[in-house]
Amino acid sequence: MRPFKISLVIPVYNESSHIETSITTICTILQAHSLAYQFVLIDDGSRDDTWQVLQKLAQTLPGIKAIKFSRNFGKEAALCAGLEAADGDACLVMDADLQHPPELIPKMVKIWREEGFDVVEGIKRNRGHESGLYKICANLFYRTFNRLSGFDLRGASDFKLMDRKVVDAWQRLQEKDTFFRGMSAWVGFTRYRLEFKVARRAAGDGKWSPVTLGKLFISAITAFSSLPLQIITFLGGLFFIGSLLLAAQTLYMKFYGIAYSGFTTVILLQLIIGSALMLSLGIIGTYLARIYDEVKNRPRYIISTEISSLRPDESSGLESSH
Ligand code: UDP
Ligand code: MG
Repeated sequence: MRPFKISLVIPVYNESSHIETSITTICTILQAHSLAYQFVLIDDGSRDDTWQVLQKLAQTLPGIKAIKFSRNFGKEAALCAGLEAADGDACLVMDADLQHPPELIPKMVKIWREEGFDVVEGIKRNRGHESGLYKICANLFYRTFNRLSGFDLRGASDFKLMDRKVVDAWQRLQEKDTFFRGMSAWVGFTRYRLEFKVARRAAGDGKWSPVTLGKLFISAITAFSSLPLQIITFLGGLFFIGSLLLAAQTLYMKFYGIAYSGFTTVILLQLIIGSALMLSLGIIGTYLARIYDEVKNRPRYIISTEISSLRPDESSGLESSH
């Protein structure tokens, strides 16, 4: 069988306390199964000394490529940078906190190599140790996303092994505001769903706040569906039918001389139509903002420094700045 290399793409943000353990744990498993690998670690503008740890790792371990962003661009941007920098025959995307079990990597590789699947996606069997409210929100998001886009992402995670051709196809999607989970489902290819149990975080806290999750929610929905815009047309149609009925009733009462002052009706109609209009403008505004962001055509991220592990034949040139 032709030799192959796996690129492990790992976004890292404020994980200095445990990133070294995570990488060495993954390394041990890969070496035990004689898998050729490359780590692509993206420091997403960490505020702690994550970058120093990554530099140290690049000096001590072979096969490490570390990229430092000029600021925090978010996990989605970090994944883009990682997938663009990776040159393996397959890319495996995983988190830095060991919540995606590295023990499964050899099994994923086997399914890819021997069973011929192009994508092996980790499906969460449980939602880890998240709060009740978080679970309800996540559920609501996936249901809405499925209804609007037709892609069922329930249980989906960013723990994924993708063949080179899938990564190449993914790179052809040019949007600036990316939603990795959705986009990697959109490109298609043969997929294997591998269930896994979400482990506890190695250390530190999760990085998501209700605001960042809310943003991801809106960005994911608007990226994959224009149905909310069509709902406005539907709403307009509904109000039009209602207004015809009301007009008929009003004229009837006027001609038969039984018209009454109708203050309540007027107020209610104003309130309902007013809020429907504002809501509709909001939806249009959200899509407009998306178009605006895409038209600006800014890069998805900016790299400040990039380093690679020394190969045995190299003696200098460790660091290259961009
Ligand atoms: N992450 C990142 N940039 C961010 C937030 C998170 O690169 O702005 C990384 C983080 O280092 C980790 C992964 O994304 O490797 C998942 O983050 P976290 O564990 O906080 O999220 P959760 O497990 O709750 O989905
Ligand atoms: Mg995590």
